[in-house]
Amino acid sequence: MEQIAVMSGADATGDGEVDKADELMDKLKNLDILDGVEDVQTADPAAYLSFETYEQAVSTLESVGYPAPGSCLPYSSEELVDAVGDLLRKEDICVMDMTSALPETASAAYQALTVAGFNAAASCRKDTNAAFLIQKTDKNTPSFLFGSHWGAVQALGKNAAAAHVETKPTPVAYVFFRERQISIPSTVCAVDVNLAARVVAFEITMDATYFSCSMCGTPFITHVGGDMQIAPMATMPDGTMFMRECALKYARGDDVPAETTERSAPLVEA
Ligand SMILES: [Zn+2]
Repeated sequence: MEQIAVMSGADATGDGEVDKADELMDKLKNLDILDGVEDVQTADPAAYLSFETYEQAVSTLESVGYPAPGSCLPYSSEELVDAVGDLLRKEDICVMDMTSALPETASAAYQALTVAGFNAAASCRKDTNAAFLIQKTDKNTPSFLFGSHWGAVQALGKNAAAAHVETKPTPVAYVFFRERQISIPSTVCAVDVNLAARVVAFEITMDATYFSCSMCGTPFITHVGGDMQIAPMATMPDGTMFMRECALKYARGDDVPAETTERSAPLVEA
C-alpha cells in the first residue's frame, strides 16, 4: 500500500491534497480488514470508498496496480449485448445487460459487483440459457474496478490479489453464464464491438468457430491455467479474421480463402 502514498504525493499541491491522500490510503487499508469474508451474501452494495472526482478514483486505481483503469470500450453495453445476442440467437442463449447494477458515481461501491454477480449466478441457476453481462464504462469504473479488486482479495487473499491486478489484463466486462464468471479482457475487445462480441460468444459457448482464423481455423483464444489468452491477430474491414502468420501469407497472396474479397484493404492489427 506504500505506493499509494507515492502516487498521491506526486499529485499533491498542498496540505489539503496530502490529507485527502492519507485519508484514501487509510480507507484502502481498512478494506484489508475484510480479508476472509467468505459468504458473498454478506457483501453490502452500499459500502463506499468515497472519491470527490472520477479522476481521483482512477488515479487511486492506478496506484492499486491497474495499468490503464480509465480506458473504456468505445461502445455501450447495449451495443455489445445486442451484438452477442445476434451471434448466439441460434444457440437459444439469451444475453442480458446487467451493467446498470453498478452505480455511476465517482465513489466506488466496491461490493456492488459481488452482489450483482451473486444475483446473476442465482438467475443462471433458474435459466441455464441466460447469460448476464456487466460492462465497465466511463461512469461505473470506480465501482467496477474496486469491485473487481475487492473480489480478487476475497478469492485470493491480499498479496495474491495485488499480483493478480498488476499482471492480468484489466477486465472490461464480466459475463455470468451457468456456473462460470468470465472475465473479458480489453485487448482485442477495444478494437470494435463485433470483435468483442466474438470473444464473448466464444467464452460463453466454448465454441471456437465464433473466434478463429478464417484461413486455418485455429482458435484465437486459449486457456492457460484458467487465464484467457488471445493470439496476435488481424482483421479485415469485412470482418475476416486471421492469425498474424496467416495474415502475412494472405498479404503475400500465398493462400487466399474463397470467402475473402477485399484483397487491397489494409489490415488492422488487433
Ligand atoms: Zn490461420
